[in-house]
Amino acid sequence: MKALFRGLLLAMSMAVCAQEYDPVPVNLDPLDLEEMTNAEEVQIPESLKDDEYAEEVEPDEVLDVPRDQTRVAVLGYHNFSETEPVSRMMLRTSEFREQMAYLRRAGFTVISMQEFLEWRLGTRTLPARCVLITLDDGWKSVYTDAYPILKEFGYPFTLFLYTNFLNGRGDSLTPEQVREMQANGATIGSHSVSHLYPRDWKKAEEEGAEAYARLVDFEFGESQKKLSKLFGTVNTFCFPGGYHTPAMVERMPGYGYLAAFTVVPGKVTVTEAPLAIPRYMIFGDDGSVFRTAVDFRVAQLGTVVSTGSRPGTLPAKTPPPPFAVSPKPHETVAPDFAAITAYMSGVAGVDFSTVQMRVSGFGRVPAKVDPVTRAVQWVLPCRIYMPNLSVHVTWKSTDGTSHKAEWSFSIDPGAPIKTVNSIP
Ligand SMILES: [Zn+2]
Repeated sequence: MKALFRGLLLAMSMAVCAQEYDPVPVNLDPLDLEEMTNAEEVQIPESLKDDEYAEEVEPDEVLDVPRDQTRVAVLGYHNFSETEPVSRMMLRTSEFREQMAYLRRAGFTVISMQEFLEWRLGTRTLPARCVLITLDDGWKSVYTDAYPILKEFGYPFTLFLYTNFLNGRGDSLTPEQVREMQANGATIGSHSVSHLYPRDWKKAEEEGAEAYARLVDFEFGESQKKLSKLFGTVNTFCFPGGYHTPAMVERMPGYGYLAAFTVVPGKVTVTEAPLAIPRYMIFGDDGSVFRTAVDFRVAQLGTVVSTGSRPGTLPAKTPPPPFAVSPKPHETVAPDFAAITAYMSGVAGVDFSTVQMRVSGFGRVPAKVDPVTRAVQWVLPCRIYMPNLSVHVTWKSTDGTSHKAEWSFSIDPGAPIKTVNSIP
């Protein structure tokens, strides 16, 4: 059963890009993928059911990649209801559940704010495709509707609270509810004191720089103080309505904020300014934002980062594999390269039932051994836009000794695409 589940995770991690090779017009709605039913009832693609190595797949292993190859989709939610009319800010609770289930099926890693900050600050690595879940304002439905689902999936999440809306009155949360969520995966961030609108800020601006600074200190500083008194460390902020000015941003480090979130959509890499982090606001009446947010297939401008040391390549002293491979070590290929192949027929004493292939960003991949040529091959499910990939092949000899070979190669995102397919 475990092995099936593991195989399934692998299948899920491919789900998003698998559609690319579908010759018929594809429905781009990831929530309409046919396996999208219920987390327990996912159909296992026939081709993966009999994966000869399925028994040995390690538990949901998704390998970390070098820091500048990770992309994080930050999702922003507000209010939830199963019965109220949906709107931008009001999402159907059952749709939220489907979205959370999709994140799991697609093989994304849902990270905590702590992990996000450590990655940004350079003290940890993460898998290639991560999701950070944030919920703004502190609506009661976060506790009644979203929290049970997040808890069920075991996803960490961040609540951006504004302190004038935290007394249990109306539709607001109580501090006790927040504390319970904190004990079950929630990180608390600030969303100011009174959730001012741009017109309020403009009015303060007209009163002069000093009045403006006083208001910034109050909205950003007091909220941080009050929330940390109630809930402990508060070191992240999210701008109400996404509205922010240079005068605000300049004062933020003074209040201890390490990151501040906007409402400008886009994947987060290690390069964005820490006080203007992109975020996808998920609307209740328009599913397209969620679909864009969870589409990691195509690198966005500015997200494929190249440094002098070629991130993701193995250290130069790593010996080349003792057999021919394709793509070759340090070769540069186009994003639509077809397969990764290890030609192991010449290697003495290989027990081919033990051969495993791992690829950075994908973890264990379902590589197949060709019974005639003894080539070990993983056919790529989609185009790859990461700057480079590292491949690890492990096997045992018939005498029981373990062996490993590794190599890496680069991908040129601008290289001409040769394959014909329905999605650019
Ligand atoms: Zn808000």
